[in-house]
Amino acid sequence: MKSIFENTQIAFASKSDAELKKSFVLFKLISSPVLTKVGSAFIQFLIKVGLPINFLVRKTMFDHFCVGTNLEETEITVKKLRANEMDSCLNFSIEGINSEVGFDATLNEILRTMDASSPDAGTPFAVFKPTGYGATALFEKVSAKLPLSTEENKAWGRVKERFHTSCKKAVQRNLKLLIDAEESWIQPALDLLLEEMMATYNQKEVVVYATLQLYLSERLPYLKTLIEKSKKEGYQIGVKLVRGAYIEKETARALDRKLSNPVCPSKEATDQNFDNGLQLLLENLDQAAVFVGSHNELSTLKAMEQMKQNGIASNHPRVCFAHLFGMSDNISYNLSDHGYNVVKYLPYGPVKKVIPYLIRRAEENSSIASQTSREMELLRSEIKRRKQVQK
Ligand SMILES: Cc1cc2nc3c(=O)[nH]c(=O)nc-3n(C[C@H](O)[C@H](O)[C@H](O)COP(=O)(O)OP(=O)(O)OC[C@H]3O[C@@H](n4cnc5c(N)ncnc54)[C@H](O)[C@@H]3O)c2cc1C
Repeated sequence: MKSIFENTQIAFASKSDAELKKSFVLFKLISSPVLTKVGSAFIQFLIKVGLPINFLVRKTMFDHFCVGTNLEETEITVKKLRANEMDSCLNFSIEGINSEVGFDATLNEILRTMDASSPDAGTPFAVFKPTGYGATALFEKVSAKLPLSTEENKAWGRVKERFHTSCKKAVQRNLKLLIDAEESWIQPALDLLLEEMMATYNQKEVVVYATLQLYLSERLPYLKTLIEKSKKEGYQIGVKLVRGAYIEKETARALDRKLSNPVCPSKEATDQNFDNGLQLLLENLDQAAVFVGSHNELSTLKAMEQMKQNGIASNHPRVCFAHLFGMSDNISYNLSDHGYNVVKYLPYGPVKKVIPYLIRRAEENSSIASQTSREMELLRSEIKRRKQVQK
């Protein structure tokens, strides 16, 4: 049986013929791990020697995976998605900040993003990365329960304050706030912080969403504990469910330090963990809201089937499917066409500053070969379909 995700006419309705061809060429290029490696190194070299790279990056990766260099430029895409009944989450995609001035600047930009977002305008979610608000080394130290110096204690206080300021802004703007997950060695500190945020701001509605990476074996038991704990303590939980983006880093660190690998032993085990987590959340919608961050068609179909079986409306306000801009339009547009809540993550930021994000996208697409070949297969099939219609 054909899955709903194969309807390329719906999936690419908003793309012109030229845009389809451009996307095809881009996916073809990044499907090659060698080209991706060489291309990334070349761009980094050009930046280092101070050569202008904006035009080159904008015309290739940037235009496909990002929606603008500043907030104002994101509007066109938000409106386009809104016209297709989809919501957007503006994502200020700068990574690798490492100073108090930089953390405050990130907080200010996130607050600006939140001021520019509203449920009525099709931007009901906001997001930030924890290491945009504090040093990775500090999160790591708190996670390892190591004693903090007076200075570090003050810095940790400022991290907490930035989290609270963002949550308060979300409440004030009637937004939902997603907090990304990063490496497992900073996760214990984040768990503590997020439980504090959820207990404070999710009393009546779900405002704050923690991200759980289900490639980590211990996240499913943690989810069960979190559901029980929040029930007992009388608050609601928001969960952005993802598989996890740092598998190489996690595995390398475990090997290097002779620790056991926190990542599930196989892709199948991760898939099982993810589907079980999703099922658990769908069974607990009175207690939890779920934001499904995945481009996996099978997991999405399973979730749809379970929703149907459990009598959960496709547009249930506590279930959202989310995909990154430039990826899996076949899932986004077709889900939305069938009445499900869909959110697109819309990365934006100055060209040079979003390069680490773009490199991660290229690496992900070249390492998850099945995903890239799926994108190419769908684009090819839509190009062919349009040619036949024109005959
Ligand atoms: C809206 C959205 C938000 C996201 N936010 C975050 C975030 O905050 N933090 C974060 O870490 N990631 C985030 N991601 C990325 C996500 O974690 C995945 O890396 C990415 O989506 C690919 O997984 P998938 O479910 O889409 O698809 P799939 O292609 O089915 O899964 C690929 C994933 O499976 C896992 N995997 C692959 N091989 C193995 C193996 N051998 N053993 C065990 N597991 C394996 C890895 O997690 C890999 O990324 C987000 C993704 C989306 C769509």
